[in-house]
Amino acid sequence: MRITRVIERTIKVESKIRNARVDLSEMTATIVAVVTDVIQEGRPVVGYAFNSYGRYACGGPLRERFIPRLLATEPESFLDDEGTNLDPPRILASLLAREKAGGHAERSMALGTLDCALWDIVAKIECCPLYQVLSDRFGTGRSATTVPVYVGGGFYGAEDPVATLRDEVSRWVDAGYRDAKIKAGGVSLDLDRKRIEAALDLLPSGGRLALDLSCAFDAQAGVAFAKDVKPYGLWWLEEPCDPLDYDGYHAVGETGVGIAGGENLFGAREFDNFLRYARLGSNIVLQPDPPLAYGITGLLDILSTAQTHGVPHASIYPHGGNLMSLHAVAGLGLGGVEAYLEQFGVFSGFSHEVRIADGRATLPALPGIGFEAQPALYAVMSDLIR
Ligand code: MG
Repeated sequence: MRITRVIERTIKVESKIRNARVDLSEMTATIVAVVTDVIQEGRPVVGYAFNSYGRYACGGPLRERFIPRLLATEPESFLDDEGTNLDPPRILASLLAREKAGGHAERSMALGTLDCALWDIVAKIECCPLYQVLSDRFGTGRSATTVPVYVGGGFYGAEDPVATLRDEVSRWVDAGYRDAKIKAGGVSLDLDRKRIEAALDLLPSGGRLALDLSCAFDAQAGVAFAKDVKPYGLWWLEEPCDPLDYDGYHAVGETGVGIAGGENLFGAREFDNFLRYARLGSNIVLQPDPPLAYGITGLLDILSTAQTHGVPHASIYPHGGNLMSLHAVAGLGLGGVEAYLEQFGVFSGFSHEVRIADGRATLPALPGIGFEAQPALYAVMSDLIR
């Protein structure tokens, strides 16, 4: 089998929201299609992916070196031992040839997006959903039928922030979510308190609330904020400090609040440093984003690194709120997946196959990742190969 074409395109995310540090008015994302010469039901098998959201498109390195490098490599070297399917880890290793060590963010998104599309192909050729492939190869082989899901949102930008948040949280509860995460750290403490209390008031009994601080604070301000909100018994404080401010994370963790981080770390080596030097022990939820950090293949390396630091799979909640993370959670037995319902244009939410009830998400049945059942997104993805 051969890869015959790889197409990428930049798509505007069209979002008016903001978190504590950035607004998303200029946000873009990259979509890719990897076309093979394998024919199923009269059509070539095509793998699709996008580079998550919240960081910008990564078409430059794809166009300038990784797509040409992929198409120039001998096809036989990309196949698994049986020669019947692609071998994404082998392909990733090949694409990393002639790349210097370190500086991961410069390439990890381009390669991670490509890698997710390759895993889509692998599962389509095996005629089963991606989570089943991951479970068979790297998990228990016994996939759950549902996985824990929490909903993210509560961005800033509304004229009446508390009333708007109340409406949003009510919609989440009506839609079947129990646990939630809202942005915080970007307005006065007084207003954030009102927002936290509004959300806690509406979540169902037992529902947990996390705050995403979007790297708003230095260590001193992070500690002060953590002490202020500790009485609320929050699920976690996410990214209180810059992703590389290990001492800051450590100091905030010392207050005794739960800590989460990792969506802005771009590979296993960066997770290793984070876990080694932030010294949070078991008080950490890790949130790797597969397409931002060398793909599903990169996630497998991150899981190994986490294990060496004693962080169990149950404490890993991949970032992204998309089908790629959903498959990773289900197939690799991770803690849970996040969901974003409405803020990110065509990239929002899961596919029509996924149902939410009582804080859990059902799993897609389509072969591969299943973007084909996410109509608005699939319309722009499939347009790549017209
Ligand atoms: Mg976050």
